[in-house]
This record gives sequence, structure tokens and C-alpha cells, in this order.
Amino acid sequence: MTTIVIKIGGGEGIDPTAATSEIAELVRSGIRVVLVHGGSHETNELASALGHPTEHITSPSGHISRRTDRRTLEIFEMVYCGKVNKAVVESLRIEGIDAIGLSGLDAGIWTGPRKSAIRSVVDGRTMIIRDDYSGKVESVDGGFLTTLLELGRTPVLTPPAGTPEGIAINVDADRAAAATAIALGADELLLLSNVPGVLADPSDPNSLIEQVDQDSIEHANTCAKGRMKNKVLAAQEAMVGGVGRVVIANASVPNAIEHARSGNGTLFTCGVTP
Ligand code: ADP
Repeated sequence: MTTIVIKIGGGEGIDPTAATSEIAELVRSGIRVVLVHGGSHETNELASALGHPTEHITSPSGHISRRTDRRTLEIFEMVYCGKVNKAVVESLRIEGIDAIGLSGLDAGIWTGPRKSAIRSVVDGRTMIIRDDYSGKVESVDGGFLTTLLELGRTPVLTPPAGTPEGIAINVDADRAAAATAIALGADELLLLSNVPGVLADPSDPNSLIEQVDQDSIEHANTCAKGRMKNKVLAAQEAMVGGVGRVVIANASVPNAIEHARSGNGTLFTCGVTP
């Protein structure tokens, strides 16, 4: 039975419910779908409205993540687990799909360690942040997700994850989706975002890198800046973990899922140990 993990980003301009009818079609055709979504843009908006605007952390290697103090974690949960997750579940249920929305914290679906110290580069100086609620998914309860799928349910997953001690942590949704695809032995992982794929020049939408293989992975890594770095890393992790096909593609085109599944985007054809 074919299993597909689809991650829909939460960047500006992405409607996470836009692909609902396509997802419903896939599920009705007997394909097992696990959906993962983000919510970063709406979280930024709510955080500003609540007087606690978003701060970003840039690691020494150029990875960008959200500064997640306790208040930010609460706002993050309001948007990811609340508004966005329920909107996606509602739209699927209206289409007749038995969707169940869960965060990675629920039932220990996504578990991993909290970062004890984060290095953040500010004005060329590296600072250490110790009270951040963020971490990394190291294990996925694939058995639980498979049980839901066997019951005909369609899981709709979102950060946060949890530590083994049960503390909620902000995790990168692309890499969590990759870990989920690996745990399920998925055939495909689609990472849908607000760009056509990995671009050779991030400011030029016509510079799409169509395929990334063992020889071009370093080039893709160099071109990917900021948040795209996590997607390329997630794609690599999924390929190394045995996922059959990984595509980074555009969420904002008509029939985005069909478009991505037929290879329109950046298709990863070879895993290299990250
Ligand atoms: P989402 O929230 O949909 O998961 P992100 O905002 O995390 O998406 O990542 C996509 C963003 O990565 C793009 O909007 C773009 O600004 C940025 N980016 C950086 N480098 C690249 C690149 N080489 N190709 C495409 N996008 C890039």
C-alpha cells in the first residue's frame, strides 16, 4: 500500500487547506496520507498582535530558527495546534475524510531532546541561549500512526514535539516530516512551500534546481539559505532513511500535490549522509 507524507509549509501566502480536495482524492483511492503542517507566518502575526514579536536565531552555520521562550511556545501552540490544525482537519472532514489532528507532543508521536544551549550569531558575535524550548525529533511512534491509518484515519500532525520527560519543544516541521516518512517506510515525501523548489538563486524563481543527486547535493546545500537549509537537510535525511522519492515543490500552484508528485520541483534522487 502506498504511503505518502505531505508537509505543507506555513509561510506567507500558503493556504494549508488549498490541497484538501487533492488529499481527499488520494485517500479515497486507497493511498495512506499523513499530513504535516507549519504555521510560521500566522504565528508571527499573532505574536506581534500579542506584544511578543518573533525573534529569530541564526546559528553559526547559517540555520535560522524561531527563538522559543515559554511565551512564544504558548503562542506557537495557539496557532499550530489550534487555528491551523483545526482548519486543516475541518476542511478534510467536510470532504468526508476521517482526519485526526494531533501535535507531535500528543501520545509521544514525536520525541527528542531539548537543546540545552543554542548558539546564536548576533552582529557577528556568538551568544549562548539556554532557556529555549526547542529541540529535534529523534523518534517517531510509527506504530501508533500505522494503527490510525489502518483504522482509516488520516493523521494531521504539527509541532510541538515532546521530550522523553514530556516537555513540549518547538521542532522543525520539515525534518519532523522526514523522520515520520522514514518511520512509516513511506514511498514519497513532499515538502510543499512558497517557492518552486530549491533555487540556484533564491531571488530568481526561474533558477529552479530540478534534480539533486549525489554529485549536486553540495551545490544545493550552498544555494539553500536560511530556512531552505532545513528543507534540503530534511530531504537528505529522508533519502538516507530509505524514503523512495522526495520532492521540494510549490504549495501555491493549482493541483499542487499532483504537480509535485509528477516531479515538478526539486527531485532528490540520491541520499548522502548529512
Ligand atoms: P515553509 O514555511 O513553507 O516551510 P520556509 O519559509 O521555511 O517555508 O522556507 C522557504 C523559504 O526559503 C523561501 O520562501 C525562501 O525565502 C527561502 N530560501 C532561501 N534559500 C532558498 C533557495 N535557494 N531556494 C528557494 N528558497 C530559498
